[in-house]
Amino acid sequence: MNLISLERKWIYCPYCGAKHSIYDDTAECHGVFLKCVRGCKREFELVIKDGEQVVKK
Ligand SMILES: [Zn+2]
Repeated sequence: MNLISLERKWIYCPYCGAKHSIYDDTAECHGVFLKCVRGCKREFELVIKDGEQVVKK
């Protein structure tokens, strides 16, 4: 895990692949639910582990 933010990455909707928001590689996240606004409008859980989005449906 990096302590200094090095890279910004897109969060993608796991259902349709639409871009949602930006995170950086120091992020850790779970239990946050986002709604896909650019694509399919479904809700998905945002999970970021070790600076990578974990896609689970
Ligand atoms: Zn979507």
